[in-house]
Amino acid sequence: MKMSKSIKFILFILMFVSAGVRGLAAALAKPPVESMSKPNIVWLFSDDHAYQAIGAYGGRFQKENLTPNIDSIAKEGMLFERAYVGNSICAPSRATLLTGKHSHKNGKFDNRGGFNHDQQQFQKILQKSGYQTAMIGKIHLNGAMQGFDYWEVLPGQGRYTNPQFITAEGKTEYKGHSTDIVTDRALNWLKTGVDSSKPFMLMIHYKAPHRNWIPAERIMKKFRKRTFPEPESLFDDYQNRGEAANKQDMSIEKTMTMKSDLKVVPGSDRAKYLEEHKLEGKDLIRWKYQAYMQDYLGCIAGVDENIGRILAYLKESGLDKNTVVMYSADQGFYLGEHGWFDKRFMYEESFRTPLIAKWPGVIKPGQRNSDLVQNIDFAETFLDIAGAPIPEDMQGKSIVPLLKGETPKDWRKSLYYHYYEYPAVHSVRRHEGVADGRYKLIRYYGLDVPAGEEWELYDLDTDPNEMKSVYDDPEMARKIKALKAELERLKKQYDVPENGGQKIRQHSQRGGRSAKPDKLSFSFKKGAVPNNKAPYIQGRGIEVNVAFSYSGSDGVLVAQGGASEGYALWVKDGIPQWTVKRTDEGTTIAGGNKLSSGKHSLSVVQDKKGMAVLKLDGKEIAKGSVGWSFKMQPHDTLSVGIDSGSPVTDYGKSKRYTGDIDQVEIKLLK
Ligand code: CA
Repeated sequence: MKMSKSIKFILFILMFVSAGVRGLAAALAKPPVESMSKPNIVWLFSDDHAYQAIGAYGGRFQKENLTPNIDSIAKEGMLFERAYVGNSICAPSRATLLTGKHSHKNGKFDNRGGFNHDQQQFQKILQKSGYQTAMIGKIHLNGAMQGFDYWEVLPGQGRYTNPQFITAEGKTEYKGHSTDIVTDRALNWLKTGVDSSKPFMLMIHYKAPHRNWIPAERIMKKFRKRTFPEPESLFDDYQNRGEAANKQDMSIEKTMTMKSDLKVVPGSDRAKYLEEHKLEGKDLIRWKYQAYMQDYLGCIAGVDENIGRILAYLKESGLDKNTVVMYSADQGFYLGEHGWFDKRFMYEESFRTPLIAKWPGVIKPGQRNSDLVQNIDFAETFLDIAGAPIPEDMQGKSIVPLLKGETPKDWRKSLYYHYYEYPAVHSVRRHEGVADGRYKLIRYYGLDVPAGEEWELYDLDTDPNEMKSVYDDPEMARKIKALKAELERLKKQYDVPENGGQKIRQHSQRGGRSAKPDKLSFSFKKGAVPNNKAPYIQGRGIEVNVAFSYSGSDGVLVAQGGASEGYALWVKDGIPQWTVKRTDEGTTIAGGNKLSSGKHSLSVVQDKKGMAVLKLDGKEIAKGSVGWSFKMQPHDTLSVGIDSGSPVTDYGKSKRYTGDIDQVEIKLLK
């Protein structure tokens, strides 16, 4: 039944008249008690934001004034100096954020595979407790979000430019830079989507500054002129540490790609600079570091600018008075420390994450807290702020007492960490560990060493850059014993099965299968071979010998792998070519005269460091570095006379070799 507006109004007046004059006055004076007492929550979250790149954290970028707005949250509230994650990688960190549980309990171990959205998540509980919930931006968990009244999320990693969003209704696309658009969408929801009779919780998740670090045009222009301080450990040689640090694939020197990461494209200023200056060795690493920082820190400046827009709106709308604002990231990041980018390791730069909060009337301004906090705490904190029930099986602790400056006596004294994504991109080995704020004990497992595992121990007081493991120092024996006992206690407390309950695969990358790693010598005829007969080239040097006849037509002699990883020995315009592809970027070594008609033998020897020598009929015709060895086993198999599956490179029109190929021999080198 519909009522006219005037009848509604009369009923409304009668209600107040019957409630009496005092009731009327009270009702007009303030909104319902519920919404007044329960604060709103605005959770600001970015991807891969290193604490080193936040002014309020101090450090080498402090003078650059990159984050005035994020710093203002710290000025008005509390900065956590010891906030950590439990598994330093995007999707698992987000799963922990929503569930309040470590990876082995929420089932999201790594960036691959799905997330069970049906499981308990804090926002579902918040919703039942009368909160409006919204999520805007990057969540990196495939599938429909649950427990959010409104959600608009980037598919997967999302795009920097003209991002697409998935909503409950379908896909939409917006023109502009991802950081600006995420803010626009969040402000839109704040202005038009909020029911002012209820408290709300809004999660604003930026894609930036995730790889490949593309700032908005307006910022890029300014940052490309800047020079930034280098970290002390930029030229770390990984001595005094084990297999994992030595064999990772996340260095500025070897892993960072010219085209995608550093945007060295033909005609660009960066390409011209490199052509003119011919940099090598440390000079080239220094140059790459600067280019990386210009783009990464440019992304940070964009995030900060946009957080400024959110803070300004909260202020002008008056919402700021009853809103808790928190800033964090899914984990930290290496900004050249140890010569690296990326994350994953339990070393401080990626184990730690920024955490800053303001809450008018509750948090005193300008506080710094050094209690051990972990991302398993966030879900319970949100529920605690909202006065909602906290489920027993969440594994963290609410940090609300800390925010009030009242650290409980029994607050945790140690943290548990476990990283699982191996074999995978960046080749960081699986590890778990315990940290107590000063000492850190790490166990790498599933290694190709006799014991299958290696331990490292760091003392952050004497070695804050973690350059020397003191695990073998006899004076540390008692400390190690105590830390191992603490690790076991934590595993019991968090109910962690051996190796997180995960099956360990020692080799075979991304499902790319191969012959057994100990088979070192191979012989092939024309055609594709089954993947389980292809050489396991990861971590190896390689020798390829091809006996063939040339009759004037080009093509592929032998290839293994595809567009993202692999190698190909092929002939272009009669000239032999050796192309190696890694993380989508290729290098080709070629030389010599045009092949003469008739039988030839062609060989390539590429050592573990990526130095390749090409010989034709026993004579060297070309030599050069492809810049890397094979750090990943390619997904695609090996084929002779054609590159089956995804092509390693663009062969032009002659992909298939039509001449005779008598034999291909491959030897793997240590
Ligand atoms: Ca991340």
